[in-house]
This record gives sequence, C-alpha cells and structure tokens, in this order.
Amino acid sequence: VAEPEAAPLEVARDILRRTFGHADFRGLQAQVIEEVLAGRSAMAVLPTGGGKSLCYQIPSLVRPGLGLVVSPLIALMTDQVAALQQSGVAAARLDSNIGLDERSETWRRIERGELDLLYVSPEGLMQPWMLDRLKRTPLALIAIDEAHCVSQWGHDFRPEYRMLGRVAELFPTVPRLAVTATADARTREDIRAELRLEGCAEFVASFARPELILSAERKKGAKEKRVIELVTARPNRSGVVYAGSREGTEKLAEALRGAGVPALAYHAGLDRRLREERLEEFLEADAAVMVATIAFGMGVDKPDVRFVIHADPPASIEAYWQEIGRAGRDGDPAEGITLYGASDMAWALRRIGDRDVDAEVKQVQTRKVRQLYALLDGAGCRAAAVRRYFGEEGVEACGQCDLCAGTVETIDVTEPAQKALSAAHRLGGRFGRGRLVDHLLGKTKDVTDFEAGLSTWGIGTELSAVQWRDLAEQLLFEALLKEDPNDGRPLVGIGDAEAVKQVFRGERRVTMRKPAEGEPRVR
Ligand code: ADP
Ligand code: ZN
Repeated sequence: VAEPEAAPLEVARDILRRTFGHADFRGLQAQVIEEVLAGRSAMAVLPTGGGKSLCYQIPSLVRPGLGLVVSPLIALMTDQVAALQQSGVAAARLDSNIGLDERSETWRRIERGELDLLYVSPEGLMQPWMLDRLKRTPLALIAIDEAHCVSQWGHDFRPEYRMLGRVAELFPTVPRLAVTATADARTREDIRAELRLEGCAEFVASFARPELILSAERKKGAKEKRVIELVTARPNRSGVVYAGSREGTEKLAEALRGAGVPALAYHAGLDRRLREERLEEFLEADAAVMVATIAFGMGVDKPDVRFVIHADPPASIEAYWQEIGRAGRDGDPAEGITLYGASDMAWALRRIGDRDVDAEVKQVQTRKVRQLYALLDGAGCRAAAVRRYFGEEGVEACGQCDLCAGTVETIDVTEPAQKALSAAHRLGGRFGRGRLVDHLLGKTKDVTDFEAGLSTWGIGTELSAVQWRDLAEQLLFEALLKEDPNDGRPLVGIGDAEAVKQVFRGERRVTMRKPAEGEPRVR
C-alpha cells in the first residue's frame, strides 16, 4: 500500500526547515505559498523583512519546472542568487553582467531540468529569443518582485515593467505571483490591471509595528539644536538620524559629537572603505548614532536601534515607514521622531515640478508628498494612518503616538466633512478639488443650472477656501475621498464607501489639527 502523499504545504514546510533553516512560516507566507502551490496566481503585499522571497522560492522548489523570478535590480538578484546557492539551491541569473560562457552553461542546465530558480530583469525576459526558449521550458511559476514598479501610481515606476502584462498570455498555464512591500490601494489596483491579475487572491499583511512610538513636530528655530536635544535626552542608546543632504549629515554629526554623542556621518559621497568601516562600527556598538542620508538603509539590520529621527522629512509615506522601520527590530519599544516644516514641503514640490517626467508622474509624486505632509501635520493616529495607506482595513488607533496621546490640539470637523463628501457625491466625480471647494462656497464660475440646483451648492460658507482645501486633503488622506488622475487633471470622487457611510451616520469622526495662532500653514 502506497504512503499517502504529503500535502503540498507540508512538503513546503519541510523545505523551509531543511533548506532554509527556519522553524515555521511567518505571517501570510503559508497562505501565499499554498495558493501558488495550487497553481493559482496571486498578489502579496508584505512589509520589508516580511519574507517575500520565500513565497516564490519555496513553490519553485516544490512544483516541477523552473521558477522564474523577475527583479528590477541586478544587486538584488546577485544577493538572492548567492544566498540560494549557499543553501544548496540550484539558482542562477541571466542579466547584462553575465558572460557568454556562463550564459550557455545556464541554458544547458535549464534544458536538462537541473535549475530550480532563474532570475531575470524585465527587459531581459521580454526579449523574443528569451521568450522563445522559455516557452519550450516547463515553468513552476513566474514571480514578479517589486511589483509596484509597474504602476505610475507607485513611488518607483519602471516603464520596462509595463511589458510584463504580456506574460499572462504567453504563459497562460503558469501561476504568477506579484510581490511588493509598498502598495497603497491605488497602486494595488494598477498592479492587478497591468499584470492581468484580476480575480486573483490578494494577500495584504499587517503593517503594524506596535513597538514603534511615532511622533512628529514642526521645525521651530535651529534644527541642529533640536536634534541635539532629542538625542542627548536618549543617552546610551543607538539611533539613526536622517538628514536631507550629505553636508547636512557631516554638520549634524559634528554638532552631536560636540555635545558628547558618539555620532558618525554616512552618505554616498564617502569612499566605500570609509562607509564600510562606519557601518561596521555602528553595527557593533552598544550605543552609537548614525547621521545619514537615505543612502544608509539597504541591508542595515541592527536589532537594537532605539530611535530614528528625521532631521529632514522623508520623501513619501513609503520612505517614512521604511526608514522608521529600521528601529525596534528586536521588538522592544523604539521611537520614530520626524521634524518637518512648510518650507520642506514647498521644496519637495518644487523639485517635482523641475523634473523631466510626464505630467501624470508629476501628479502622482505631488500627491505622495501631500499625503506625507497630511500624515505629519495631521490629527489622527499616525500608525493607523500609515496602515490605512498601505491598504489595511479595520485599523484601530495605536494609543501611543503623540496624536493618540493628545499632545496636539485638534478640532472635530465631522460636520463640514459630511458636507464635502455629500457635495463630492452629488458632483459625481466629474470635477477637481478646486471646483469642489468653489461649489461648497457657492462661487463656481460659469456655474451650470445642474450644479446650482444641487442641494450642496453653497452650503459651506462656514469655512474659508483654504480651510476647505485642507479638509479635502485630510479626506483624501483618510481615503474618504479619492482622486482619479485623469491625465494630470485629477477628479475628486467618493472613496471607501463603507467608511463614508460611517461618517454620514456620525459613527466615524473626522478631526483636524487646530491651527495655532500665527503659525504658518504647512499644507
Ligand atoms: P523581504 O524580501 O520581504 O524584505 P526577505 O525575503 O529578504 O524579506 O526575508 C527577510 C528575512 O527574514 C531573511 O533574513 C529571511 O531569511 C527571514 N525569514 C523569512 N521567512 C522566515 C521565516 N518563516 N522564519 C524565520 N525567518 C524568516
Ligand atoms: Zn496613535
């Protein structure tokens, strides 16, 4: 009598233990792997460090055939392939850095069915001869790493990713898995549409990091002085201070050393040896402060980082979460403190304006900057806002960020929010933000009979145009309103219908930061 065959997930778990040396699956790994093992395509959004790579590596080993992994960066491919080979997995990559001999050897191994995993770049994969050869190769799965790159709505759009949509028709029987660490709701929608994953299961992990205590404050006076205060108030702990420029890191590190803090500067302008030396020193120290640009990050895994301070604000909410996420890896409480100002936002917006990119890309980037400042300058729980941004539903306030702790004065704007939402609903998603505000104030130029006849026309005279714009921003940020890009002339419509209903019923309150007397407007 034959032994009953082990369930595919059990085979997968066995490989997890034997080949990768991990006791058990984490988070959503088991669910994602099970879906792919069943031969179905899927999309997985797991936070950085969440173990995305195993989600496609293990099914590639369990299922017959070659596992194909599309990755945007040669550096990422090189790291992963080297690590796999070290674990005894037959893995290879084909990218522009691979010489002819190695290339032919890799193809020989593929033809003999000896290779389990092959890493390729999107443009490499889509070359006709490559597709031809792969069509004759049995494939276990096709994984698309960093899938957010397919979306102009994401923060790292790569035009060559667009071609990957064709993979669905070219390999109709092969399950495809799109993975990413950062995808807001809009980006996920794009990924689905572009990669032809409509109707596939979507796995979104929790982005919660309960050990992180978030706060943000408007810059007042000298930034350097404030950073020194914050750091010296946290003695004998390791931390990272992010600064916006290379000179900035050097200056801040020096100022901190002057205040008796063991601080090191780190940026891409330093020579490699010096960078490695300082990284080593930081990783080994019991208490050291790294003052760095965003060049510092990839591959930094120091478990006991107790604080991350943004001396200058990050570039987006994705960057904010990734950078602060470097604190508290050991699970003990850690702080994320961000300093920001109106001039930072103006500068970020100006830089986008100067970029040589499509209007639509500019608009997405502009929106990302505004969303970041809505979070920093907002009034609702910061951790909850980040998680909602990443698409989590049913998120509750963290109870420990500065806004939950109530150190910032807020006002309840639920009633005006109801008016704005109602107006957006009646206008039917046909107009932009400015028109929505004009409508509420009853000031629309060339108003049509249709619009003037709506019950929301001119119902919002209690707020100024500036206040309405701030509120619209807040509503967009809370996904109560949503914006359709419409080729650079965005249209505002109703967002998450369930949440909007809750606001209408008064079950969900909308709050905004109370503007202080004489304080400059940040947003
Ligand atoms: P991501 O690509 O999502 O950022 P990785 O796939 O690189 O994450 O995994 C991050 C780290 O977590 C790696 O060191 C990996 O070995 C480890 N890891 C992944 N899955 C598990 C697991 N089930 N148990 C323990 N460690 C894991
Ligand atoms: Zn909170």
